[in-house]
Amino acid sequence: MDVTLFNTMTRSIEPLVPQNKQDVRMYHCGPTVYDFAHIGNLRAFIINDILRRALEYAGLDVKQVMNITDVDDKMIARAAEEGVSIHTLAREYTNFLLADFKALNILIPHKIPHATEHIGGMIVMIEKLLRDGFAYKASDGIYFEVAKAKNYGALAHLDLYAEIESRIEAVQDKKSPRDFALWKFETPEDGGVAYDASFGRGRPGWHIECSEMARDTLGETIDIHTGGVDLIFPHHTNEIAQSEAVNGKLFARMWVHTEFMMIDGQKMSKSLGNIITLKSIIERGFSPFAFRYFVLGAHYRSKQNFTWEALEGAENALRKLNDHIGEEIGRVDKDCQKRFAEFIANDLDTPRALALAWEVAKNKTISAADKTATLLDFDRVLGLGVSPRLEMTIPLEIRNLSTRREEARKNKDWAKSDKLRDEINSLGWDISDTDKGSKISKLIN
Ligand SMILES: [Zn+2]
Repeated sequence: MDVTLFNTMTRSIEPLVPQNKQDVRMYHCGPTVYDFAHIGNLRAFIINDILRRALEYAGLDVKQVMNITDVDDKMIARAAEEGVSIHTLAREYTNFLLADFKALNILIPHKIPHATEHIGGMIVMIEKLLRDGFAYKASDGIYFEVAKAKNYGALAHLDLYAEIESRIEAVQDKKSPRDFALWKFETPEDGGVAYDASFGRGRPGWHIECSEMARDTLGETIDIHTGGVDLIFPHHTNEIAQSEAVNGKLFARMWVHTEFMMIDGQKMSKSLGNIITLKSIIERGFSPFAFRYFVLGAHYRSKQNFTWEALEGAENALRKLNDHIGEEIGRVDKDCQKRFAEFIANDLDTPRALALAWEVAKNKTISAADKTATLLDFDRVLGLGVSPRLEMTIPLEIRNLSTRREEARKNKDWAKSDKLRDEINSLGWDISDTDKGSKISKLIN
């Protein structure tokens, strides 16, 4: 079955046709590692993961690359603030990111190149752009001359250049305000973060970093390039311009973009102070899997609105879905598997795939063992970690209270047991007694 995806370049859903039959070369724009990833970034990373898993489920071999931007203005400013080198800062936040990936059951990409390891390749690219007349030297750096690019702005479907011109500040000796920096010459504010190059000491612009890392790890033409919708312009637009000017070849055959995550109907931003990270989700007692479940509930091309109530709903739903996973594993229901594969191959329709998981769970004719097998098969793509042993994160405080209550019950100290239950309830958790012991869950209002 063909996997179809919405290609931002053509604005239509198209079958994926990799250049090498079964091999898919996929590149994701990764984070700039100067701070924690917020849940909008994490949504895009979960979607990248679903895409990889969906392609593998369809029998394709995927080579997945996600870069790390470890040199740019934000990195330099933050490193100076913390009094550490950009490398220390990068190492620290890359580790936090990989811990988030692990917690969210995101498969680690096959390669995670760092921009600072690819400076040499970027310099070679810029030299070629200068030689071929696509780039020129200005007082503060090397610029790409947008007028020389073929079909500039096709990805963003920009109407002429009005929009670009209004969004970019003019620099005195740039030929046009829409020209963008390939290289920035060293300034005293850079704190010594600079590299020698034939055209002058400095550091790369953000866009050239991805062009070079994609070329070096996957080749001149890649099959799928992804990122958040905010990267369509200028970042991806400029990656295309540079890469195609240097290589004389199509840069990416397909462009896949994940929409924004909103918080209570507002855009997430530092200035609004409404940034949410995975750490804040875990601190409130939620499982990272609940967040993953929540993300899958919306199609990646729709804006998604995060609320704590919605996350709670997702956690309760996942808990209930997981109750259908038993110890005994039967056979995968072929009919359901076929439908699941179709939903996923249809532009990653995760809401319908999740709905189908529920249909299987509630089905009265499929045996418990076969349900387990079918849901585990779906989980190869969904990655919700369903298992007879799935443990949702329960805060230590609640677990301790629960242990003390178990002891009280063993000693038949019912008054103490009730008091501890009240305490657990007052903290937003519920405890019920089953023949397998007590079960803790979030209180549903
Ligand atoms: Zn990029």
